[in-house]
Amino acid sequence: MKPDLFEAPDYYNLDELLSAEHKLVRDTTREWVKRSVSPIIEDYAQKAEFPKQIIGGLAEIGAFGPYIPVEYGGAGLDQISYGLIMQEIERGDSGIRSTASVQSSLVMYPIWKYGNETQRKKYLPKLASGKWVGCFGLTEPDHGSNPGGMATNFKDMGDHYLLNGAKLWISNAPFAQVAIVWAKNEQGRIHGLIVERGMEGFTTPETHNKWSLRASATGELIFDDVKVPKENLLPNKSGLGAPLGCLDSARYGIAWGAIGAAMDCYDTALRYSKERIQFGKPIGQFQLQQKKLAEMITEITKAQLLAWRLGVLRNEGKATSAQISMAKRNNVEMAINIAREARQILGGMGITGEYSIMRHMMNLESVITYEGTHDIHLLITGLDITGLNGFK
Ligand SMILES: Cc1cc2nc3c(=O)[nH]c(=O)nc-3n(C[C@H](O)[C@H](O)[C@H](O)COP(=O)(O)OP(=O)(O)OC[C@H]3O[C@@H](n4cnc5c(N)ncnc54)[C@H](O)[C@@H]3O)c2cc1C
Repeated sequence: MKPDLFEAPDYYNLDELLSAEHKLVRDTTREWVKRSVSPIIEDYAQKAEFPKQIIGGLAEIGAFGPYIPVEYGGAGLDQISYGLIMQEIERGDSGIRSTASVQSSLVMYPIWKYGNETQRKKYLPKLASGKWVGCFGLTEPDHGSNPGGMATNFKDMGDHYLLNGAKLWISNAPFAQVAIVWAKNEQGRIHGLIVERGMEGFTTPETHNKWSLRASATGELIFDDVKVPKENLLPNKSGLGAPLGCLDSARYGIAWGAIGAAMDCYDTALRYSKERIQFGKPIGQFQLQQKKLAEMITEITKAQLLAWRLGVLRNEGKATSAQISMAKRNNVEMAINIAREARQILGGMGITGEYSIMRHMMNLESVITYEGTHDIHLLITGLDITGLNGFK
């Protein structure tokens, strides 16, 4: 792969909206990505393997629980810093950002928000330090966009719960030490359970042959009469709103992350367009290529403003789920469109692993599908503005 010469576009001087701490967090993450992700990522994506050796580095830069309080091992940062960390990691690779998102928003967040003090103290420091990696089991083979229909269930056996069912498409599953599993009790109410690797009847087969997020490990969670200790139930929230609360946090991170992937594609294409000579001129001098590049920077700038404003609202505790849906949907579509256009600017070179664009493009096919598909987020906006439920 070519050396990482990334320079971030900032067409509207967004830096002026960031604090010194935001910039420090962003620049530290950017440098770490250049040093630890860029040199190896293409190789791991080609091998379809998650680079486990970077887990310690992700923990060190505060990517595991950026906004979780310091007393539990988190970085204690605000929502803009969290977003900037996700942006910079996804600039390297969406699969690596997925691991950080899952750990922070889908594993640490529910333990912090819905768990008790014993659970927080037991799990959060281990997860923040990267000693343990976690996963989040919501999606099932027959229940994707409609997780409320889930079949995974647990029964109260007096001194423990008995968990049965299966989850599919679970990021980090093949190597995670701990899983936050959403399952229904005998009354049909959804609860979160902390399931640990090693519990009898719990297996995590890997999902192979993916053309997307190849540097992220995806798998199943299978529960065959798993005895879960009663103290492993998250006591402070139940119902579908509990997993959806985690998804709000993760989707917000994706809204920023997608900008990173888009910036990398744009920056690569811009540089290439000035160096590649055809018909005696740099291709960047042709109006057709300028149109592509001009539209890319316009869309990136709009997405940056959307993410920043959403971050401010989240810092103030005012962002709604529907606002988060809009940003996730818009920014991921923006990124995938830019990846496709940037790929064309590189001509044949665009399909090789010499450049990051094709990898981003394929990764974004998962990003536009997980954490609520593109269609589902549109339905969320539709419901919000009309008050009419278009889901069913
Ligand atoms: C690489 C990867 C990693 C993932 N990681 C995780 C994870 O860590 N944890 C986890 O729990 N899940 C994870 N997922 C699952 C992901 O969230 C689901 O794939 C997603 O929610 C869509 O579900 P589905 O694939 O079953 O598609 P379906 O729900 O079957 O949808 C198929 C199509 O139908 C459309 N559709 C569905 N319902 C409607 C409707 N009411 N109106 C209009 N159109 C509709 C959808 O938009 C989509 O286009 C991951 C997925 C991938 C690909």
